[in-house]
Amino acid sequence: MPTTQVSAFVITAALLVPVFLASAFKNFNVSYVVWSRRNWKPADGTRSDSKTAPSYSKLRIWFHKLCLTGVPQLTALTGMGLSEMIQLTIFVGTNLIFVVVPTPFVQSEVYGMLNIGRRAAWVGTGLGFFILLTATRNSILETVTGIPFDRMVMYHRWSGYVLYLHMALHSVTELQNWDRQGTMWQQITNTKRLLNLYGTLSFLFMVVFVAFSHSLFRRRFFNLFYYCHFAFVGYTVFGGLHWDEYALFSAAGMLFYFFDRIIRFVRSRQSCTVVSLKHFSSANMVRVVLRAPRFSYHAGQYAFINVTGLSLLAWHPFSMTSAPDPLGRSEEEYVTLHIKNVGDWSKKLVESVQEAGKDAAKTVRMSIDGGHGRPALDFTTFPVALFVSGGVGVTPMLAVLQSLIKRAECGLPTSNKKLYFFWYIRISSTLPAFAEELSAVQDAAGRLRGVLDVVMRVFVTADDEGEWRRSLVKEDEMKGGVVRTPYELLEEGKPEVGKLFSEVKAAHPSDDVAVGVCGPQSMVNDTRSAAAANSDRSGLFSVHWESFEL
Ligand SMILES: Cc1cc2nc3c(=O)[nH]c(=O)nc-3n(C[C@H](O)[C@H](O)[C@H](O)COP(=O)(O)OP(=O)(O)OC[C@H]3O[C@@H](n4cnc5c(N)ncnc54)[C@H](O)[C@@H]3O)c2cc1C
Repeated sequence: MPTTQVSAFVITAALLVPVFLASAFKNFNVSYVVWSRRNWKPADGTRSDSKTAPSYSKLRIWFHKLCLTGVPQLTALTGMGLSEMIQLTIFVGTNLIFVVVPTPFVQSEVYGMLNIGRRAAWVGTGLGFFILLTATRNSILETVTGIPFDRMVMYHRWSGYVLYLHMALHSVTELQNWDRQGTMWQQITNTKRLLNLYGTLSFLFMVVFVAFSHSLFRRRFFNLFYYCHFAFVGYTVFGGLHWDEYALFSAAGMLFYFFDRIIRFVRSRQSCTVVSLKHFSSANMVRVVLRAPRFSYHAGQYAFINVTGLSLLAWHPFSMTSAPDPLGRSEEEYVTLHIKNVGDWSKKLVESVQEAGKDAAKTVRMSIDGGHGRPALDFTTFPVALFVSGGVGVTPMLAVLQSLIKRAECGLPTSNKKLYFFWYIRISSTLPAFAEELSAVQDAAGRLRGVLDVVMRVFVTADDEGEWRRSLVKEDEMKGGVVRTPYELLEEGKPEVGKLFSEVKAAHPSDDVAVGVCGPQSMVNDTRSAAAANSDRSGLFSVHWESFEL
């Protein structure tokens, strides 16, 4: 194999280091907590129910806290924890080393800045492969590392921006060189040797998809971001024409990408029946129940949904609110989703459900691709599990809560003794959309009394003038209705997450606690801080966090 190809392989392998480090660290961390708990023996050699957790070393606690909160100011600014910051530093550092330090892997016959620019293009070749690999939903990288697609997107984003810097450096140094020679225009427009024209076009395509990837577009004009991203095809094709080594590596990445596309296509063709589709106007949300014969998923996962009548191409991610049967008894899975009306696509969905009225389930056709992602913690191995969520962020948390309860009901092995569910909603009228799930949890909790304790609290944070209290009266009057909305769970106000955690810590001073959080970034940050503050030698609060932003 030519040395040029070896070098690109070495670079690609080096770029993967942060991903594998993250995976190794995550697995070590989880295994360490489980192992410590299994092997813990109290100082007096006896075991008592009141103390089942290990005594952690000071170093372990310090590291745990550091990983959770990192550098608070930087976390608030970047939304990254310490481990992400370390990974980013390694990633950028690896890139810099290959660009700046003359290594035997990246050789060029030119010198000075031009040489550095060419090396940057080399490293970009490795990145081209990495970018495509991290853009696949059904990814071999996910299988090997256990890092789900929604987290992998972070690496995709990093590599995109770093690739842009590499290619910009390469372009600028080449342009500078031609300028010095006074041949800039001839070089670009040389019709006999089109390589430079291809390179220029490739870079221009890149500018388009990088510019529209900015959160400004990604969060506000998702479709614009999404369709502009396909400029990557132009970038790759012209990049390949510009330099055959690039073609080789991006072709390898493309192979994974197309493989993923084929899997997605095949999956999306599998039939799925809409069983029920209900619009909850007060919650501004649609609740969907699907029956998908060959669909399998785990609690806390999400799926991509396509509504054929709205758009053939648009697939939107939604966490499943339901949890599968832990014994796999049903032949076909029923999947529940809650879709909040936040933008163009979800608005159109709401309108079509309203238009179809009672026939909505018969007229709206959906396809499902999943399940993707998975909670980073195994909640069944902790004596205490605590779920914090805000608004529609409740969906994955409710799914995991239900799965833990179902496990306990089936008598499957679990370390869970107590489950806490804290949900913040702005207005009480969000509750009816989740009435079925919440009532089911309440009923199961009643049956499990003495085996598994479940505490559920729902906080109404905006003043809705006691609307729910009136609803509570109405509900009481209509007892015996189809599904009861558990308004009695509601409490007014917005208690600090830290205060709730202190209460949990006081109730379980020596237990490890698994925390799941999904909601706005500020809620995730508060939860991580509260978990760090309440972790001590006798018990750690480990956190799995999610936010609905890719
Ligand atoms: C892992 C995950 C799980 C989610 N689970 C739920 C859920 O259970 N319930 C729920 O109501 N919402 C959930 N969301 C959010 C949901 O995907 C978006 O609200 C929805 O796609 C909005 O599309 P829109 O066109 O109506 O709104 P837009 O105004 O186009 O977008 C609103 C927001 O959604 C993002 N978004 C839009 N389209 C997509 C897409 N195709 N892929 C990723 N993000 C997109 C945008 O960046 C923006 O931040 C989840 C998102 C993710 C990433």
